[in-house]
Amino acid sequence: MAMEEIDLSDRRGLIAMAYGNPKEGNKSLNTSTSTIDKGSDKAPLTNINGKSQERERERERDRERGETREPRKKKRISCAYATCLFLLLCAILACLLSALITYGLTKQAFDRDGDVLPFVPDPRYNLTQEEALLDEEEEEERDLSIPPMADLRLPKDVIPLWYNLTVQVHLPGFVPIEKDKNLTYDASITIKVKIVKDTDKIVLNSKELDLDLNAGSFRIFEDKQDSENKRAQRSSNETESENEGFNATEITTIHETKTTTERSNIVPHRNLTFEEDHNEKENDLKIKKITLNETLQFLTFHLSEKLSAGKEVYIKFAFSRKLRTTMNGLYLTKYKTENGTERLFAMTHMEPAYARGFVPCFDEPHLKAPWKIKIIHPKGTKAISNGIELEESVATKDSPDWVYTSFGETLPISSYLVAMSVNDFEYLEGESAKGTRFRVWARATAINETEYALDIGIKSIDFYEKYYGMEYPIPKQDMIAVSDFDPGAMENMGLIAFREILVLYNPKLHSLQTKYKVATTVAHEVSHQWLGNLVTMDWWNDLWLNEGTARYLEAKAVKEITNGSFQGDQMFELYEHNRAFTKDARSSSHPLHLNITSYDEVKEAFDFITYDKGASLLKMIEKIIGEKDFEKGLKDYVKKLCYKTTNSSSLFEALNSEIPEKLTGWDEKKFDLPDFANKWTEQMGYPVVELHRLDNETLEFTQRRFKRDPTIPESARYRNARYWYKWDIPLWYSVDGDEQPLAWLHEAYRLNITENQLVLVNPESIGFYRVNYDQRGWEAIQRQLLKDHTKIPVKGRHRVIDDAFILAAANHLPYEVAFNVSSYLSKETETLPWIAAMAGFNDVLHHFDDQPDSEGIREFIKSQVKPLFNNLDVTHNFAEDKDLLKSLLVANAMKVYCMVDGAECIEKAIKLFKEDFVDACSHDDIASECSRVPVTIRDTVYCEGIRWGTTADFEKIRNLTIRETTSTERSILLASLGCSRDPYVLKKAFFEGVNGTDFHDNELVSLFLGAAYGTVGKYLTNDFIMDNWKELFKRFQDTQFSLRNIVLYGLRLRDERDLKEIESFISKHKITTRRFSAWKSAIEQGKSTLNWNKHHRKSLIKFFKGEKNEKRDEDDEL
Ligand SMILES: [Zn+2]
Repeated sequence: MAMEEIDLSDRRGLIAMAYGNPKEGNKSLNTSTSTIDKGSDKAPLTNINGKSQERERERERDRERGETREPRKKKRISCAYATCLFLLLCAILACLLSALITYGLTKQAFDRDGDVLPFVPDPRYNLTQEEALLDEEEEEERDLSIPPMADLRLPKDVIPLWYNLTVQVHLPGFVPIEKDKNLTYDASITIKVKIVKDTDKIVLNSKELDLDLNAGSFRIFEDKQDSENKRAQRSSNETESENEGFNATEITTIHETKTTTERSNIVPHRNLTFEEDHNEKENDLKIKKITLNETLQFLTFHLSEKLSAGKEVYIKFAFSRKLRTTMNGLYLTKYKTENGTERLFAMTHMEPAYARGFVPCFDEPHLKAPWKIKIIHPKGTKAISNGIELEESVATKDSPDWVYTSFGETLPISSYLVAMSVNDFEYLEGESAKGTRFRVWARATAINETEYALDIGIKSIDFYEKYYGMEYPIPKQDMIAVSDFDPGAMENMGLIAFREILVLYNPKLHSLQTKYKVATTVAHEVSHQWLGNLVTMDWWNDLWLNEGTARYLEAKAVKEITNGSFQGDQMFELYEHNRAFTKDARSSSHPLHLNITSYDEVKEAFDFITYDKGASLLKMIEKIIGEKDFEKGLKDYVKKLCYKTTNSSSLFEALNSEIPEKLTGWDEKKFDLPDFANKWTEQMGYPVVELHRLDNETLEFTQRRFKRDPTIPESARYRNARYWYKWDIPLWYSVDGDEQPLAWLHEAYRLNITENQLVLVNPESIGFYRVNYDQRGWEAIQRQLLKDHTKIPVKGRHRVIDDAFILAAANHLPYEVAFNVSSYLSKETETLPWIAAMAGFNDVLHHFDDQPDSEGIREFIKSQVKPLFNNLDVTHNFAEDKDLLKSLLVANAMKVYCMVDGAECIEKAIKLFKEDFVDACSHDDIASECSRVPVTIRDTVYCEGIRWGTTADFEKIRNLTIRETTSTERSILLASLGCSRDPYVLKKAFFEGVNGTDFHDNELVSLFLGAAYGTVGKYLTNDFIMDNWKELFKRFQDTQFSLRNIVLYGLRLRDERDLKEIESFISKHKITTRRFSAWKSAIEQGKSTLNWNKHHRKSLIKFFKGEKNEKRDEDDEL
């Protein structure tokens, strides 16, 4: 599955994307932190010139000499007139001089092209590992009405062998439908199961389905003949697996010998079509009773006799239910045709545990089985599913209005991968090099925008076949673009589903960033067809195995497919790496390997840790063991575990087996990959590597866990007493620009090196750790940047700026260091370092919010970004893939400069908004067709246009939003509505959005996102979410991503009052709020913001005024 990381229409979204979502961890927009790092709290901006230390040393020397300085006696002074005049002149000169010095200092702070600003000598390092505070109340908070996960797991005595499902979907809009059947589906299913432990009960998962619980409605029977055959077959093949003899080699071999047209037969045929008219009941087992437990989501058949292990039986029954409207199970959704009329279609989404709400089944990932599906659908619609069509739109016997499509059986798949859709979409078709049929489906008006995804999809199959060393074992791959889809995309085997915004690409409508996102999302989902679908995690606690690998390999695939034109390694640094860094420094983080206690937690696990930290860990592993051995290890892993399920250890063992003897770890023995990797998967967080000079010759590296704010308590259940937040850290570093061999930091690492040499750790930013240098180290880096910044790699420049700002915010470092390190920026032309710096500046601004004392940081940002903005051609049409990073720089510079009210920026945005949008589009136009605003900066232009525009502008844009058919444009438009400065229209837009039907559930996130960072909107979202929580919860409770993001983006805590209000709201609505960890994250970040302000605000105000912080202001602590 692919999450939607952030909406593209976030007005500061690009930076936000770089650092995760804006609330969650984006240091640019939210943040916080500040623990008192003993030592560092005394350090901040005081003592910049070290004078007080000097005075203190002088006093110390005096004490040592046993002297006490007498206060000087006052002397009466008299002087002549001339002397007085001279003194007066001196005083005037002194004033002038001091004014000049003040100007100089201030100028220095703003122009920063010059010398190194002095900073505190080195009192900041405190090597005491601070123990994380634990959340004592957590255990009490557990919702006892939700059964523990152990109770929700299916018994282990029965496993599914296959499913044969027929579904009739009563989708209106095409043929007459009986009133009581309208918007429902009927289904009949035969499930063949195997008893693996003697039992008299068969338990399936089932949720909110219409089942007739009379025993007579169900049949459980044994096919004696079939059992005989099976037994005979088994005795001749002892190695047969639980999945009826599937093994990778066999399938690959079959695959290789078949031509394209024969590929539908590559799966051994096992006659899943149990005869519908099987009426002989002599083999039926007596069902004593059937019980349905909706809390545990169990459908239990209690049998009169015990079934012995090894027996195989069939369960056959029918059921029905309404099509859902909650974007899970089999649900109803809609799109608009070109003439504005609405069309309905049916779609499915099952991950993680929604399959049971579609059909009773064994709904746990390790219970894999083939599915054979037949769909009866209205004439005029098409049906698609996981398997290839065997018969397509064939007339049914019963009615001329209904046709059926039957599909070839799937490979053994987990239930969360089952998929189908009934729609009137069109498709584009192609074929992979080895002949896999590839189609992309979309509504007719968007079909031409699927060309790019089709191309990337096909090339991805070709790439992975080579990379995994295994041909794609099914004859076809479909992808479908859906406007209303809860996650970003879903890797259902053979039928990948996407939210439109992540699969459609049209250069006139979409930025290069969208194009890149489409490429990586498609490559991500296709990668899952192997890792995820063929090789699946045993249980959700290893979800990262699915998602981390897909996230890592998507970048590899796109790099290969596009010849590296997007510069994906820099994009990885900007997005994946930074999101993981940001989220994992929080108390609300979690280990990659999770202890899952509820299904809500499974849903919450689809986050930046699972995806981006997982990918970052793999990147680090690949660098340590080498690309070739990494690839070989993965190949073996896929081959060995194909059609089976797996866990983290199996992956690490597979990679470990490729490691040559000569590769050594921290203990100088052969590198032990599982031992290394477990320390990164079993405990949350990551280290900061700290450099200290022991003497003129020796530099020492040590580590400690990095936390953005250790004062925020964290979950006791993630406390890891085994490793106690220590990692084995691969040290990549350079000395004076020369790359050094890999070294290991276990406890401490010492390097013989003189003070004059430049040591840069993690220069390519591959290690998942931050680095804090000693004073001389930071100064050396700054000098190098000022002298010739190109001597430090781009990713290294990004890393040092990013680390410096985050370390400063977390009180590990005086803020001066961060501002010093970024003082060379006027020479910088690359995107990454600029984005790191702008994010750092924004982080400071975010904490100041829009209070009057924020003037200093606002002016500072203006002074920094203005020259950059003026040098960029913001209206340039970035058309080539290689321009992606440049386009990001333009988009970011414009967002940031407009945000601090940069005059040229606002003027430009308003002009473009008026001339190329408002005047170019009439009320009955479609915005995506009439707007001429460059796509790279469209979100900022629309937002500024609305911010400075009239109510009439707002109304016009609102109407254009409703009329718009393109998802991306709708999303940008909706976010721009949130930028209005009129509280009345904003509240109205929220209310109508949530209570009306104009917008899809997942689109509303954009509205809240826009508002959360709007000048006025940000003051309204907290209240709206709390005042309307009941309605929001009712509408969105089953759409895991939409409501999470609304809370995450919408809640913003500025002061104690906000904090108290939200805490009291949470305690009043425990049952509903505890289902979304976003509430907890909001509290964490709110508290961090308050802490940050206590520690940094006053000092920074002085700093921006150019005043020296001679002494730490006591008030800073108040
Ligand atoms: Zn995924």
